[in-house]
Amino acid sequence: MNKQKRLEIFQRLAEAIPEPETELNYSTPFELLIAVILSAQATDKGVNIATDKLFPVANTPEAIYALGEEGLKEYIKTIGLFNTKGANIIKTCKMLIELHNSQVPDNRKDLEALPGVGRKTANVVLNTAFGHPTMAVDTHIFRVSNRTKLAPGKNVLEVEQKLLKNVPKEYIIPAHHLLILHGRYTCTARKPRCGACCIYDLCEYKEKTA
Ligand code: SF4
Repeated sequence: MNKQKRLEIFQRLAEAIPEPETELNYSTPFELLIAVILSAQATDKGVNIATDKLFPVANTPEAIYALGEEGLKEYIKTIGLFNTKGANIIKTCKMLIELHNSQVPDNRKDLEALPGVGRKTANVVLNTAFGHPTMAVDTHIFRVSNRTKLAPGKNVLEVEQKLLKNVPKEYIIPAHHLLILHGRYTCTARKPRCGACCIYDLCEYKEKTA
């Protein structure tokens, strides 16, 4: 796929999705970090239902740590893998208090050292909370990048690296959410809505439907 085509894809996506933002509810980097840890293999909607109750009661490392694992689980027990996530969140809060002055670090090394935080979570926090040009490749971005041929790759790291190289500079920050939302609502997994797709003529997916 050539440079001009890539630019046009992002111009059209940006036009079609005027507010390319996460659908997780948060108001501080710490709330975002907790929401993203909870969102692994869960829907944003399910996470929001839990955090809408949790954050008014506890939205700092100290307050969540004070709830303890059992107290925290009462708020997150509707989310998949809540036992592991709850344990990781308590350990993460402890580390933030002891090592980072209760602040979310804005660098990859310190973020990835937190329990429950992998490369993808770190990428989301760096991009969404701190405006770093990172690309958190989830299932939607992986699918859209491969189908369109924007950044084809066999694994998420390959797609992430190709996107960082291929996405036009002016779209590097919003690209993450533009691609997620396009994948979630238009280029859906089972039945992509090609007939309603704003980049239909630019997409290089051989099996795109009319
Ligand atoms: S044309 Fe179809 S396959 Fe291509 S990006 Fe649009 S929805 Fe996805």
